[in-house]
Amino acid sequence: MAAEEKVCLRWNRRAEHFRLAADARGHRALLIPRGVTEAEAGDFLRGWREGGAYSPCGAALFSFAEREGAALFTGGGKWGACRLSTGEIRLNEALSSFPLDCAAMILAHERCHLREGAHSPAFFALLRGAMPDWAYWEGVLRGGWQERKRGADGLPGLSH
Ligand SMILES: [Zn+2]
Repeated sequence: MAAEEKVCLRWNRRAEHFRLAADARGHRALLIPRGVTEAEAGDFLRGWREGGAYSPCGAALFSFAEREGAALFTGGGKWGACRLSTGEIRLNEALSSFPLDCAAMILAHERCHLREGAHSPAFFALLRGAMPDWAYWEGVLRGGWQERKRGADGLPGLSH
């Protein structure tokens, strides 16, 4: 990320986890659960960016989401989501366990949904145009999920 780009720290009563969000004007905010101090939030953000407190792939996903203007979320039953009214795209933090191309594939998928709601032939034509090898990365995601399921790792069975 650009060094001068700022992330606002914003405490959110409903936040259960740290979450990167963007408001309508594109300002970045880190949503912080209640009870977390400013110092702790600062440490978290630094650790996440530098890959210190968090894994390098977590930091890579964080930077990727920031760069692409997407928000991150945790849990739920989906790899990604989009909101037609605002154009907001959200990526599941569980993507940090996979190559960044998987997150890029979900991002491309959600961007296509902003134009085509259903998984129609027109939708897949758009997706192929945006990312010709999308199916490969979806396979990586599905394969990873199968392995995790076998290992009872607790990742949800996600769709998009
Ligand atoms: Zn979809």
